Amino acid sequence: EDDIDEEIYQEEVFTKPSVTVQTIDLEQSIFDKLRYIGQYRKTYLLFDGGDDLYLIDQHAAMERIMYERISNSFIDNNEGCYDLLIPLTIEFSLKEKLLIMENKDKLSSLGITIDEFGNNVIIVRSIPLWIPNGNELEFIHDIIQHLIINEPINKSIMYDSLAKKLSCKQSIKAQMHIREDEVKTLLQDLDKCEMPYTCPHGRPTMIKFTKYEIEKLFKRVI
Ligand code: ZN
Ligand code: ZN
Repeated sequence: EDDIDEEIYQEEVFTKPSVTVQTIDLEQSIFDKLRYIGQYRKTYLLFDGGDDLYLIDQHAAMERIMYERISNSFIDNNEGCYDLLIPLTIEFSLKEKLLIMENKDKLSSLGITIDEFGNNVIIVRSIPLWIPNGNELEFIHDIIQHLIINEPINKSIMYDSLAKKLSCKQSIKAQMHIREDEVKTLLQDLDKCEMPYTCPHGRPTMIKFTKYEIEKLFKRVI
């Protein structure tokens, strides 16, 4: 798995919690009742959910949001694109450049308009809206590499793995501060997701401790 943050997660020592940690089942939406308490270890967001205590993994949650956004833009490019004020230029080998130009239509269906320039340079004139400012070159390069140069065998698998990779790259990492207004947006966006409770790699985005489990830990109940 080419996933930096996931790797950090794997390295962490896993100690079995003394109570059962519940992942969220697909019950009715719980987002409305969550009240933000704060950030723990710059990685997890804590919420008071009335009776239960909720923890959100900020990276996993944002990754889910970005993954769905990117996947949807791959499926139908209604998301739109925009013209760059200053077109990007990317250098490839002559062989790669020819291959890219042969697949010009594939890129334009994603909202990426290109032209050739000289022997081995591609000019990128427009890009999809979801690509974050400041990361245009990196993302376009990744897309071209992934969809054209690596010669996809199965289109839908390639698009999916690209969406996973880009969503991971684009999401807030663990060990980063997040502002309260960003938490609010994150929660609203997660609520709108089709599958809000797991990241695209299958990790939970959210876990909860019930009131009973917490009381049990403090031996208030048996
Ligand atoms: Zn990730
Ligand atoms: Zn993930």
